[in-house]
Amino acid sequence: MYKQKTLILGGSTEGFLLAQRINSTYGEAVETVTSFAGITKIRRAVVGCSRVGGFGGVQGLASYLQTENISYVMDATHPFAAQIKRNVAEAVRSVQGVKLVHVLRPEWQAQTGDEWLLAGDMAQAAHCLNGFAKNSTVFLAVGRKELAAFSGCGSIDFLARVIDPPQERELPSKISFIVGRGPFGLEAERALFAAHDIAAVVCKNSGGDGASAKLQVARERKIPVVMVRRPEVPTGKCVSDVGAALDWLEQEMSR
Ligand code: NAP
Repeated sequence: MYKQKTLILGGSTEGFLLAQRINSTYGEAVETVTSFAGITKIRRAVVGCSRVGGFGGVQGLASYLQTENISYVMDATHPFAAQIKRNVAEAVRSVQGVKLVHVLRPEWQAQTGDEWLLAGDMAQAAHCLNGFAKNSTVFLAVGRKELAAFSGCGSIDFLARVIDPPQERELPSKISFIVGRGPFGLEAERALFAAHDIAAVVCKNSGGDGASAKLQVARERKIPVVMVRRPEVPTGKCVSDVGAALDWLEQEMSR
C-alpha cells in the first residue's frame, strides 16, 4: 500500500532525476507520477508511474490533485513553461493540504568574451537580427513552437534545432532543420557551428549544463548570442536543483 503520492510535473532532466531518486530513496513508501505535456513524440522512460497530456487548466489540475490523492507536487517543468507553473500554483492553493515546490535551475550568466543581445521574448529576439548580413546563417535553439516569430527575417538563413520536425505552417522562408535532443556535447557543437558557418545564435536562457556548450562555442567563435530572458519566476517555494528538491520533500514528509 502506497503511503504518499507525489506528482512530478516533468519534461526536463530534473523531472526524470527526481522520479529516479525518490523511488530509490523511498521505495513503495512514496509513489511518483511524472506528468508530461505530450509535446514530443518520443519521451524518455521514467522510473515510477507516468501520465501524458494537459489536465484541462487550473480546474482540471485541481480536480486531478484531489481525485488522485496527491500530497506533494514537484514542478520540474522547463523554466519557460510559464503557463503550467501559474496553473499549478493556483490549483494547489485551491486544494487543502497539497504542498508545492518549483525546481528552477539557475540562469546562464554572460561571461567575459560573450556578446549577448538580451530579448524579452521571441519577437524581440527576431528584431535583434535586423541588419544581420544577408544570407548569414543563424542558429535557432528555441524549440519549434515559436519559429514563426522569425518569418519577417527574409534575408537570413536559419538552421533550427528541434526535437521533432515542426508541423507549424508559418515558418521563416529560408529555414532548415536539425533534429536532436540534448544533452549536446562541446565537440559536436563545435563541429555543427563550423559545418554551417553559424554567424549568430538565438536561444532561451534555459540554464543547466545540457545545452550550454553552444554558448562556449559562440564565445570561441566570437559570434553574438541573442538570449531570450525567462518569463516570470513563480512566487511560491523555489529550489534550484534536484538535491534541494529532495531535501524539501524529506522535510515536508517529516512534518
Ligand atoms: P506551458 O506553456 O507552460 O503549458 C501549456 C499547457 O500544457 C499547460 O496549460 C498544460 O495544459 C500543459 N502542460 C504543460 N506542462 C505539462 C506537464 N508537465 N504535464 C501535463 N500538462 C502539461 O508549457 P510548454 O512551454 O508548452 O511546455 C510543455 C512541456 O514541455 C513542459 O512539460 C515543459 O517542461 C517541456 N519543455 C518546455 C520547453 C520550453 O521551452 N517551453 C523546453 C523543454 C521542455 P492544461 O492547461 O490542459 O493542463
